[in-house]
Amino acid sequence: MNTLLQKEFGFHELEIKQLNGYDNENFLITTDSGKFVFKTYSETTGSIALVEAENAALLFLHREENNLFPKPIPFSDGSLIKTLKVDGSRKICRALSFLEGQFSGEVSHTKTLFQSLGVLLAKMNLKLQAFDSEAIRTREWEWGIQHLHLNKAYLTDIDDAGDRALVTYFFQQFEENVSPTLHLLRRATIHNDANEWNVLVNNGEVSGLIDFGDLAYSPLINELAVAISYACFDKENPIEWASIILKSYHEVLALEENEIAVLYYLIAARLCTSLCNAAHSKKTNPDNKYAFGSEKQAWNLLHRWICINPIAAENSFRSAIGLAALSVKSTDEMVEERLEVLSPALTLTYSKPIVLSRSAFQYMYDVYGNTYLDAYNNIPHVGHSHPLVVEAGQRQMAKLNTNTRYLNDLLPEYANKLLSKFPDTLNRVFLVNSGSEASDLAIRIARTHSGHNNIMVMEHGYHGHTQTDIDISDYKFSNKVGQGQKDYIIKAVIPDTYRGKYTSDNGSAGKAYAKEALDQIIDSDEPIAAFISEPILGCAGQVPLASGYLQEIYPAIRQQGGLCISDEVQTGFGRLGDYFWGYEAQEVVPDIVIIGKPMGNGHPMGAVITTQEIAESFSEGVEFFSSFGGNPVSCAIGLSVLNVIEAENLQEAANEVGSFYKSLFIDLQKEFPCIGDVRGSGLFIGVEIVKNRDSKEPDSNLAGHIKNELRDRFILVGTDGPHDSVLKTKPPLCFTKANAQQVVDNIHEILDSYYANL
Ligand code: PMP
Repeated sequence: MNTLLQKEFGFHELEIKQLNGYDNENFLITTDSGKFVFKTYSETTGSIALVEAENAALLFLHREENNLFPKPIPFSDGSLIKTLKVDGSRKICRALSFLEGQFSGEVSHTKTLFQSLGVLLAKMNLKLQAFDSEAIRTREWEWGIQHLHLNKAYLTDIDDAGDRALVTYFFQQFEENVSPTLHLLRRATIHNDANEWNVLVNNGEVSGLIDFGDLAYSPLINELAVAISYACFDKENPIEWASIILKSYHEVLALEENEIAVLYYLIAARLCTSLCNAAHSKKTNPDNKYAFGSEKQAWNLLHRWICINPIAAENSFRSAIGLAALSVKSTDEMVEERLEVLSPALTLTYSKPIVLSRSAFQYMYDVYGNTYLDAYNNIPHVGHSHPLVVEAGQRQMAKLNTNTRYLNDLLPEYANKLLSKFPDTLNRVFLVNSGSEASDLAIRIARTHSGHNNIMVMEHGYHGHTQTDIDISDYKFSNKVGQGQKDYIIKAVIPDTYRGKYTSDNGSAGKAYAKEALDQIIDSDEPIAAFISEPILGCAGQVPLASGYLQEIYPAIRQQGGLCISDEVQTGFGRLGDYFWGYEAQEVVPDIVIIGKPMGNGHPMGAVITTQEIAESFSEGVEFFSSFGGNPVSCAIGLSVLNVIEAENLQEAANEVGSFYKSLFIDLQKEFPCIGDVRGSGLFIGVEIVKNRDSKEPDSNLAGHIKNELRDRFILVGTDGPHDSVLKTKPPLCFTKANAQQVVDNIHEILDSYYANL
């Protein structure tokens, strides 16, 4: 190479050092007349037209003398690009001036530095508005954010299913939020790669920009999306830092409202592009460390990005360029509007209700720009707006939606997948649209099958909102304004080892409670059609049935010809960590299982699962038909939920994160006497708040105080139980240990100040 450089450029006293390069080779050439960068591109990966365009852009930027950008250095014969034999193979070659400075990636970041970055980019973009190149304009490749979809091919190179879901989420959000207005954004030639190893710094200010190899003709705002993505890698508050760049940029080159409106998603898109390409390079070219050097930081930022409400980002960006925040209706106005058309029977959570706009995984975004950590909602089981569930629904909706009176492959495919999660004896499924419908149908099946009418239910149990469901739900019929207990209902005392009569949970309490229930069963004047209970009673305040309880009850019910129903609407689908279904903890197999809530991750679905014998005897009664139950869209969605649970190992995650979460509450209990009991399993936890540990007197005021204070700290939990004194937490299963820590740290602070003010 030495000889070549002397011959081609007349360089003397050469020192050659290889520099980093993404998909070409770069050399720093030190000569007696200064430093240069010699760049070579293999003929297969490099395109002469693009390298020429890059040189043209650089010469264009050097029409006014400056030291901000590299300048093409001519070969001895005056040409700027040549194809030469370098170290035995033919390469496209050129040389550039060398710019002195440190990389922005190696200096500490200040406001001044970020302001100067905005200014430099704006000045460059202003100049480049008059530059045009056919090769750049027609360039379509992964690194142009407007061509984001090209990176979809690399999604499978991301090994971790949860990480892959996060990237897929932003691909989907791009299609939703950017694609429709993409054609309206003004376009220009942009540098398109102002990353921390291309931005040069001298004396605390940006002094230059190198590597024009990613030049793109694209929406102008992409320049900032790229620069901000990298500049904000390690920032605690990336939006604030981004706003500094925006403001200074805007002062030189005014930004437009529609550009700012999509910037949040463009930044995410750039991070996803970088991550997809890094994952792909790791698989295809693991030796090129430069290609995935910033991968970890990009993941960190992308994971932090979903904690940022897009509205908050947009409002900060708007403020940076002097625009007012987006206008929103007041909460009071919304409550009033609601009451004009809805019954007050539909209650709202919190005295200051939450007005939501969007959600992502374990986060929910309100219209004011706040992000809530969802530690409460178990329906979005695999995460709010999970992209694979959304995609499954969208696709099937665009294809076919009909009822079960026509044949279609999806129904048996889903039924088989669902049944594979049950023991062999439970091999028939009825698909409906809610947990309520499932409970109602289960009772109908039990009555048809047994020919009996009486139903044995659990104290404080809840099974749904239909009339039959209310009749079997002590939580509702025993409410002070409830309809009272019907004469066909037999109510068992809740086998609660914390608050109940028998408290030792070594199996003896279970037996003792069961003995009382067995007496009721034997004493019932008519045989019992069904016994129904949840394995952990949610509305009772996450009370697990004392161990061994069901093993005593089930045989006695069956002996009467009755059926044993497990309501897994809350506890199913791996939430409990150790078990996929809650009844497994009691080492029994029910005759009927009812499921709902998490089944469709928010899409309305429910099901009754039973044995072949019971399903057949039920078919002798009147026909069963549900217009929507088992429709192809629901089946596609249900299938995607099961697939995500498996792909992301969510049952194991519930176990691991849930055990950690519970241990944090147990530690908290050691510090605060108001925590009477910590119970539950996996990510289904109840924390009982009491006035006094010995008397166990419930403290519903304090439980409510904690719930409301958490809401003000943007964390959602619930309270429940007969005294409303149990904190309930049952988050989406993508909830992390850091999320768990955040909830418990906040409760710690709330209790600290509660006790300090007593
Ligand atoms: N069973 C249980 C245990 C429930 O918690 C619920 C809902 N809270 C239902 C059934 C009824 O489900 P849905 O509201 O989806 O109809």
